[in-house]
Amino acid sequence: MLNRSWTMARKPPLGWPSDGDFELIETPLPEPAVGQALTRTIYLSLDPYQWGRRRGGLEAVGDVCHGRTVSEVTVDNGSEFSPGDIIFNTNGWQTHGLTGAGVDVFGYMFPRKLDPDSAPISTAIGILGMLGLTAYAGVYVQCDPQPGETVVISAASGGVGQAAGQIARIKGARVVGVAGAQKKCDFVVDELGFDACVSRLSPTFAADLKSACPDGIDVYFENVGGEVYENVLPLLNRNSRITLCGMISQYGNTDGRDAGEVWRQTGAPFFERQAVSVHGLHVRNFVQSHQEKFLAEMTEWIRDGLVKYREDVWQGLDSVPEAFAAMLSGGNFGKTLVKIGDDPTTAQAPETQRARRNILG
Ligand code: NDP
Repeated sequence: MLNRSWTMARKPPLGWPSDGDFELIETPLPEPAVGQALTRTIYLSLDPYQWGRRRGGLEAVGDVCHGRTVSEVTVDNGSEFSPGDIIFNTNGWQTHGLTGAGVDVFGYMFPRKLDPDSAPISTAIGILGMLGLTAYAGVYVQCDPQPGETVVISAASGGVGQAAGQIARIKGARVVGVAGAQKKCDFVVDELGFDACVSRLSPTFAADLKSACPDGIDVYFENVGGEVYENVLPLLNRNSRITLCGMISQYGNTDGRDAGEVWRQTGAPFFERQAVSVHGLHVRNFVQSHQEKFLAEMTEWIRDGLVKYREDVWQGLDSVPEAFAAMLSGGNFGKTLVKIGDDPTTAQAPETQRARRNILG
């Protein structure tokens, strides 16, 4: 058996991913050294930050593309694991990977054994993992919405957005989502219980957002930047709060400008006039302090049906570059995962090109 891997084929030009950025190679399976285990990848997480790493030169030509995974131990050579154990690891964009103790880019220890009886294993790289903690930290810790306040969440149906909006609802806020396609807006209102959701693609977006927020905006959870942000700014109330989680609309910009600086300059007059607090968010700053509390609360919320989540699961290693590009341009619907190998904890679904899972509590 061979290991199949997507590697960096070239230094990415500015802009969005395109054909030719990645190359699929086959190599012999790696041999675990003493203290290591060989694993096969079950689920691979695709995240916007991965493009930032590549554009920023953190992955060199020929490197296997980085990615966090849920994997199964197949061969043990004196590691802490046994064959059959399901673990959180960072195998990257490949079918197999070795364990090697470390801390990932978000401050999570890996490898880490997962308990398939406590939650579906894919949630370790989704709602119960880094994404959920990001949402929890931004809403719950940084912005602390009060009952009746209006909270706006951009990229509302995505991995972070869906969790952030539901947490704000639990806090008693009135939650307004912004999403792309109308079906995403319908989903966050009908399935996730947001109070309203407007489409950023509508020609009447600015007016729609204003009428969805008749009392202005008290908290803005920023995932996208760009036009959505520009339309949020005039609606910010006095003493409102922003969590600056990300600005995906700028991750493929080609003008050479510093997106963060542009974001701050655009907002500055509004921030000053309305005494807005801006909280930069990096989830790694909350792993030590909040991971345990977050996991306990989120697990309970899911069990009680207060938080639901949707995963967008692509099938097979070959689909990874396409799934990645789709996620960066709004072609995903929920947290983007790729199922690389069989999931021994679930009944096997038919192997379709793409299976969307809508797991409701
Ligand atoms: P999502 O699942 O939300 O997928 C990305 C979404 O971004 C798309 O579905 C699309 O939603 C939206 N989008 C894409 N292009 C644009 C655009 N031009 N304008 C507006 N929206 C756009 O991804 P994640 O949940 O993984 O990440 C969401 C954000 O959170 C990202 O900015 C990411 O960088 C950030 N993040 C930050 C972390 C931190 O520690 N600060 C940690 C993790 C994530 P739609 O079609 O509905 O508009």
